[in-house]
Amino acid sequence: MTTLTKMKLNKKNYHSREADLAYMSVSQFKSFVNCEAKTLAKLKGEYVEPSTNALLVGSYVHAAFENNEVFNEVVEENSDAIFKKNGGKYADFTQADLMIDALKNDSFAMFALEGEKEQIFTAYLFGTEWKIKVDSVNLDRKTFSDIKTTQDLYKRYWSTKYDGWVSFIESWDYVLQMAIYRKVIELATGALCTPYIIAVTKENPPNKAVVHFDESRFDFEYEYAEMKLNRILQIKKEEIEPIRCDKCNYCKSTKELKDTIEVGALIYE
Ligand SMILES: [Zn+2]
Repeated sequence: MTTLTKMKLNKKNYHSREADLAYMSVSQFKSFVNCEAKTLAKLKGEYVEPSTNALLVGSYVHAAFENNEVFNEVVEENSDAIFKKNGGKYADFTQADLMIDALKNDSFAMFALEGEKEQIFTAYLFGTEWKIKVDSVNLDRKTFSDIKTTQDLYKRYWSTKYDGWVSFIESWDYVLQMAIYRKVIELATGALCTPYIIAVTKENPPNKAVVHFDESRFDFEYEYAEMKLNRILQIKKEEIEPIRCDKCNYCKSTKELKDTIEVGALIYE
């Protein structure tokens, strides 16, 4: 059954399964690329990904830059995970406080983050409705920015997508995210905005950088997204069977061996 009324998104329902069924998002797209079977199971409500401390640390850092009210809410709701019995914070959150201060004490980072916080936009792109939630968007100066935490600014990762060594930004598909956000904001508002990533590291003391993107990087990401979406949308509509990655927690927990594998298959896909 199809419905002509689009689901209205707000902060409360943005991350709901209903919203994920009605819209594509960058995280859903990335999840499909990682494992089709797991992502379809999540959309159908058959599998719930366990929440991790790393996710909570991420929300904690983001909330600190949204406003005090939201930050206090996150702290109150998760006080057991944040505070030890003696009242001090667990190491992950002591570290998160260092990262928050490293950005808050930097006037350039705070300048890059100036704008409306946690704004939701939707637009039709590449055959599907997308939803995005942007950390900070400034339509007056046509910029938007996203805070990313990482181990080390300079660490190199091997990428099969780019067929080479890449930074944490490509490795986590943040260029794709910036490209999609840029297009959705343009379709929704008419303003073509420049994206920035405000990166801060989990080191002590934290390192930090404001990262911009050579425009030529975005075209590759649009081609990549369009190419992958054809299949993803068919899986989402359950027109074709999803493939299992056989590596993620969902696949491991539902795995049933049927055949042998040759030793080479362990390291080459
Ligand atoms: Zn899997």
